Amino acid sequence: MKSKLSLPQFILETKTLANRILALRNLNNLSIAELSKLTKIKVQQLEDIESGLDTWLSVVVRQKLANALKVEPVIIQEVEFQSYQDIKYIDKETCPTCNLKLIKKTYHGLDHNSLDIELVKYFCPKCPYVISEN
Ligand SMILES: [Zn+2]
Repeated sequence: MKSKLSLPQFILETKTLANRILALRNLNNLSIAELSKLTKIKVQQLEDIESGLDTWLSVVVRQKLANALKVEPVIIQEVEFQSYQDIKYIDKETCPTCNLKLIKKTYHGLDHNSLDIELVKYFCPKCPYVISEN
């Protein structure tokens, strides 16, 4: 389990979850398929994380990735996007930081009454900006 001090600079220079997971995976010489096997996390979800579609992780997923990538979970958590309260206005078209068109992604799930619900999220292709539609 590597702490911050023992990690190479190129890992610490990554500022997004996508880039950090990719860099850590390369450091450990793992393919996405191998990481999927080690963590039991689906390849599709790992691809979503590395492409920047998933910008934060559940405690369980973070812990599995930390174990497989041999780092403390905080190394992953520190680049996750968590400051939703900083979003002062909602624009579903463009990212306020990068001025890029947001990517729309729809999730399906069941609510507590087992009714099919849809969760729509909009992601910036470049930075961790994301908004949800209720
Ligand atoms: Zn952006």
